[in-house]
Amino acid sequence: MSKIPKKKAKKPKDKKWARADGRKLDELRPTKLEVGVLANADGSAYIEQGKNKILAGVYGPHELHPKHRARPDRAVLQFRYHMAPFSVDDRKHPAPSRREIELSKVARWALEPALFLEYYPRASIDLYTEVLQADGGTRCASITVAALALADAGIPMRDLVVACAAGKVDGHLVLDLTDVEDKNGEADMPVALMPNFNAITLLQMDGQLTSKEYEKTLSLALDGCGQLYKIQKETLMSKYVSAKEEVEE
Ligand code: UDP
Repeated sequence: MSKIPKKKAKKPKDKKWARADGRKLDELRPTKLEVGVLANADGSAYIEQGKNKILAGVYGPHELHPKHRARPDRAVLQFRYHMAPFSVDDRKHPAPSRREIELSKVARWALEPALFLEYYPRASIDLYTEVLQADGGTRCASITVAALALADAGIPMRDLVVACAAGKVDGHLVLDLTDVEDKNGEADMPVALMPNFNAITLLQMDGQLTSKEYEKTLSLALDGCGQLYKIQKETLMSKYVSAKEEVEE
């Protein structure tokens, strides 16, 4: 009887491939969040995600000027994403670039569905994120930290919003790309999520993926959102635990 030859398992071509910072493919960068970091803002938060350092501050709700921009049925959310001139290798011009204007808009779109804007007709809620140090994925980190600043400001929300990117680098699908991975990689997909509604509020994609890769990358990004949501919740809770302890002392 002739034996059926066993198929040799295909070895991955690049078994030795590793991410530049040694992370696993599905590993987030070390992330730290804080709330209530600015005394004069109505709400604030700070994030460090890998080398990204971003501050978010909220002012409002307040009466909107000029009045012709006000909406009779709801508040207007104004979002400014800005990169400090010293946040990247080359000095960044302090004036808002086209990229910053676009990112301000997409971040606003990602956050609006979570807010009860209808509670504040004719008002404005102003949200500022300042990127102090950038290393890829700053739009997502800005959304994650901005949601926390809104919660800190006591703005009524249906849910938090959390964002994370995944993408493809050297043929490998990876979570939470750094700047180098983003620049050298084949694709980058930033995703924002309202976790309790399981509703995606932002999905962008830069580069090319097959439809299978697209699904896997989206699923990776959503996993990343889940991990970040845990940190967001813990950070908010910790503020109230320490406030409770102060009151009880
Ligand atoms: N970047 C830069 N100079 C700029 C804009 C961006 O060095 O003027 C870097 C920065 O590290 C940023 C990365 O490029 O995080 C990726 O930028 P992208 O536009 O993809 O947005 P992000 O990934 O930060 O959301």
